[in-house]
Amino acid sequence: MEGLTPLDEHVRQLLNRYMQDLFGKEDVVLQAVRQDSLAQGLPAIQIEPESGRILQFLLRAIGARRVVEIGTLGGYSGIWLARALPEDGCLISLEVDPERAEFARAAFERAGLGDRTQVRLGHALDSLPALSAEGPFDAMFIDADKRNYPAYLSWALDNVRVGGLIMAHNAFWYGAVVQADRLPDSDVQGLLAFNQRIAEDPRLMGVIIPVGDGIAAALRVQ
Ligand code: SAH
Ligand code: MG
Repeated sequence: MEGLTPLDEHVRQLLNRYMQDLFGKEDVVLQAVRQDSLAQGLPAIQIEPESGRILQFLLRAIGARRVVEIGTLGGYSGIWLARALPEDGCLISLEVDPERAEFARAAFERAGLGDRTQVRLGHALDSLPALSAEGPFDAMFIDADKRNYPAYLSWALDNVRVGGLIMAHNAFWYGAVVQADRLPDSDVQGLLAFNQRIAEDPRLMGVIIPVGDGIAAALRVQ
């Protein structure tokens, strides 16, 4: 529109803050989990609050009850996810680091979500095969080792029901997906392959929601 300047970084930051204030408000539990995980020495790489709200929105839209997460960290994203589930719903979250898994279990308890969450310790590629027996699942949220996103997507295609959702954090990988020549490592390659497959696989209707570091979301249409 005339008189408006194009979106620069500053305006983008203000808009993110605006979205956070309107839709991504952390309650005391989420705030405490974020702060305590920092104090505990866990890396500050949780999903952004406004991304948490988007994930909740998507789960509620499909009536999700059973969800798998890969990459628990301290349970921050898991709290957002589990809060979108009904009382008899279940979030199974996979984490390779025992200290993080323990921290997350306590965080889920503190959030009053102990009854509908499970943290399973181990490398996700080792845990997933046995998890198939507990499926099919309504949704999956991928947020761990980027190089394995394509493998996680393959599992999701076999274990997420038609009408279900496959979602992933870091679809932009902090901009690396459009600067892959500068960072040609297996993590970037993993994300490029993942994004391309959710764009092209006829069983999926994929998008990237440009919130935070990018939320990839694909609806299983067939
Ligand atoms: N989803 C979390 C952040 C996850 S960070 C949140 O938003 O709050 C990524 C996590 O994945 C780390 O805790 C890391 O230990 C774990 N991880 C990395 N590779 C993994 C693997 N192969 N299997 C399971 N967990 C893994
Ligand atoms: Mg992430």
